[in-house]
Amino acid sequence: MTDIFKLSLDTDSYKGTVSINTGLFINGKFVKPVEGGTLDVINPATGKVITPISAGTSKDVDLAVEAATKAYKTSWGLKVPGSTRGQMITKLANLIEQNIDEFAALECINVGKPYATEKIEIANSIALFRYFGGWADKIQGKTIETTEKKMAYTRHEPFGVVAGIIPWNSPFYMLSFKLGPALATGNTVVLKPSEITPLTALKFAELLDDAGFPPGVVNIVNGYGNTVGDAISYHPLIRKVAFTGSTLTGRKILKAAAESNLKVVSLELGGKSPNIIFEDADIEQAVKWAGSGIFNNMGQTCVACSRIFVQEGIYDKFLKGLTDYAVNMQNKAGDPFSSTTLHGPQISDNQFKRVMGYIDSGKADGATMLTGGERIGSEGFYIKPTIFTECKPDMKIIREEIFGPVASVIKFKTEEEVIEMANDTSYGLACGVFTRDNSRSIRVAHALEAGTAWVNCYRSLETAVPFGGYKQSGIGRELGEYALELYTQVKAVHVNIGQVL
Ligand code: NAD
Repeated sequence: MTDIFKLSLDTDSYKGTVSINTGLFINGKFVKPVEGGTLDVINPATGKVITPISAGTSKDVDLAVEAATKAYKTSWGLKVPGSTRGQMITKLANLIEQNIDEFAALECINVGKPYATEKIEIANSIALFRYFGGWADKIQGKTIETTEKKMAYTRHEPFGVVAGIIPWNSPFYMLSFKLGPALATGNTVVLKPSEITPLTALKFAELLDDAGFPPGVVNIVNGYGNTVGDAISYHPLIRKVAFTGSTLTGRKILKAAAESNLKVVSLELGGKSPNIIFEDADIEQAVKWAGSGIFNNMGQTCVACSRIFVQEGIYDKFLKGLTDYAVNMQNKAGDPFSSTTLHGPQISDNQFKRVMGYIDSGKADGATMLTGGERIGSEGFYIKPTIFTECKPDMKIIREEIFGPVASVIKFKTEEEVIEMANDTSYGLACGVFTRDNSRSIRVAHALEAGTAWVNCYRSLETAVPFGGYKQSGIGRELGEYALELYTQVKAVHVNIGQVL
């Protein structure tokens, strides 16, 4: 028997019970791991344990792959019409919506973002499932004209068993990024949530049966990266892995794929994204978008605009606005369940120490710290929103992803110079351009080396628009119609209708 975790909450934003089954979810059932391991899930706002949950090993991954393989062969894939798969995905979205408050509460207690933000992320995940549910009966190949004596066409077939490995910063949203298109295209899935944030994935598992998914179509194996994640990456029967997380782990997964069965790998990795504010921009708007782009979610977003380039004529005015924005966030730090909270904790003690280490390195390297740079309170992992100026291109805070609420603001003179500086990074996830000059906005958006360019806005994803990285920020595009390509392989069929040898 697996254990149930139950907690009554009486907060500003959520009053009621949250509950999950703490087991692994394999072949449609919650089960104990073969070796009986557990891991503690921590509340980042307090540093205290929320609950232990089951932690698997490679043996559980084997069982999950076995279940997923059987389900693919008997009750999923192209055996099920796309319209039926689409209806199940839509029903799943409806069930999540019926439980949206509990999902948001579980995410809030585990991730520490303000409850209202968590609710928006769950709503975005629901929209994403609905969007991909709509695609399930629209997966089409082409007929290709060759000669009168031959007919040729393509099929976009599922891989079979695919895996998703996801991070902690937006756990449920990332789950929906992987499962929406994987299920719509007819694959069965083994999903590994982050060991830090497994709770909403377990709640999700409870809904699959009601939505109509046969056992084994979705399997959720919680556990650590170097055990469960590694076993997935090397598994000979997993045909594809979709990963979101750090560039370091992305490299390991690519290596494992190369050394095992050459599984297809798609990667959504880190970033060091530039946001460029020209003198003719609407400064008030630019401050708000840039402020939310780096400080919302405590800087723990892959697209965070951690390098903000400001043209010299508006530098002082912009900096004053951004500092006010940071101080306001700091003043509204607190319990993520409080309706007045804007700023929560970093996800873990490790991340807290990592971010503080970067702040120390910025100071030691001679950057000027305008605001922030300290812990908030004595409980949980809170850090003040921090702004550095006078940064040099070779400083660690300019070169490396911090994944915390730390902005580096850099003054520039010309368009040519700022494009050069902005592209001087090994990453290429996103970028922003603020200007009222339409030609310039498009020129600069095209010149920047990034998979997403935002013009006069920032960190504004759309379900229907592809998302992914250039350079060391990733391989492949999630979201939108492009995501279907990640989960299908193209078969070309040649049919002889009269050619004689
Ligand atoms: P991480 O790479 O440490 O972990 C991500 C996942 O990989 C976790 O589930 C972890 O258990 C697993 N993992 C760790 N080692 C593994 C191994 N050897 N083999 C297989 N799996 C392994 O990343 P994180 O700290 O959870 O997340 C933060 C990172 O994610 C940041 O770099 C951030 O930029 C990135 N991120 C990117 C996007 C994007 O879309 N580009 C979105 C969110 C986060």
